[in-house]
Amino acid sequence: MHTTTRVQLDLAALRHNYQQIRQIAGASRAFAVVKSDAYGHGLLRIAAGLPDADGFALIQMDDLRALRENGIQTPVLLLEGVMNAADLQDACLLNADMVLRSESQLQMLECMPVYAQPLKIWLKVNSGMNRFGFRPEQLPGILQRIEALKAVRLCGLMTHFACADDLDSDIEGQWQVFSQAVQRYQLPFTAANSAALLRDARTHGAIARVGSLVYGNNPFSQPMPAGYDFRPVMSLQSEIIGMSHLQAGEALGYGATFTADKPMLIGLVGCGYGDGYPYTAPTGTPVLVKGNRTRVVGKVAMNVMAVDLSGVDAIKLGDPVVLWGDSQLQIAEVSQYSGVLSEALECGLTKRLPVCLIGEEPSFA
Ligand SMILES: *Cc1c(COP(=O)(O)O)cnc(C)c1O
Repeated sequence: MHTTTRVQLDLAALRHNYQQIRQIAGASRAFAVVKSDAYGHGLLRIAAGLPDADGFALIQMDDLRALRENGIQTPVLLLEGVMNAADLQDACLLNADMVLRSESQLQMLECMPVYAQPLKIWLKVNSGMNRFGFRPEQLPGILQRIEALKAVRLCGLMTHFACADDLDSDIEGQWQVFSQAVQRYQLPFTAANSAALLRDARTHGAIARVGSLVYGNNPFSQPMPAGYDFRPVMSLQSEIIGMSHLQAGEALGYGATFTADKPMLIGLVGCGYGDGYPYTAPTGTPVLVKGNRTRVVGKVAMNVMAVDLSGVDAIKLGDPVVLWGDSQLQIAEVSQYSGVLSEALECGLTKRLPVCLIGEEPSFA
């Protein structure tokens, strides 16, 4: 069957965003965070699109293996360390640095054999997120135990901010806790995510770990501050697969939640929650039909949704629809209407969708 919905990835935008990040990061290295299949964009596509990245940060061991199996030798940081001895060995052999974030991981390191090269670790400090990491008062004991390990080399301290994305909430509390530890032990550090990279240069450290901005998403819960130029990498596209004329007073679709107050032309778009478009997007959510900004009407169904074509001229079957990821329609708007985080929208697309790449470097081979 003909698939009407597809994902377009703009690799030129990807490289552009990464260069912007590099500039802001200054002397710090910028690791592109590619966890969760590169925020739903496809791990290998994104990794191949950033051949000059300083590094990649990820969580799943299979992703590390996939990178190395595909010949990608870029430095990798395992954001949550490893869960068992076999993965520990692979992390060493595949040359990945890891975060050490729990007592059980430390005990694993204390039992590990010495491999050809030491395992490089970043010790996670719990500065207030209160999920993983060691509290500042535990650090002297932990650092002593790490020092005794032949198989391990400590690179520095790591932490993660809980509220950097909210410009109304300050990160000072967490930063004070963390920077005191950094001062005290005089170690390199990695702390910044996308939001902290933009809002506070003190947090840049040795490595900034940048996810959302790589993909062109606004990392803040407020509108993006002026003066930045990040471009959407992903665009979700579909097409008009049908049209329907409503008379005044007629209701549309499941639940009859939308009723026309005048005669209306409705476009039916071949995309729905089965593809990953949010079911919670209400009437009014913006969409682009052949470049015209209009709105969703009624309930999003599994494979179809309806849009208002009043005032949009000469639409025919097959005309293109952009659901997000255009200069005229940011994913942040769909996020706001649907109550689903931009990153959750991207991660939530079904892997069945065809993907097309644009902005690839011309090949002269
Ligand atoms: C996901 C993640 C990041 C990246 O966060 P963004 O807000 O997407 O930049 C950084 N550090 C850690 C530990 C993460 O898990």
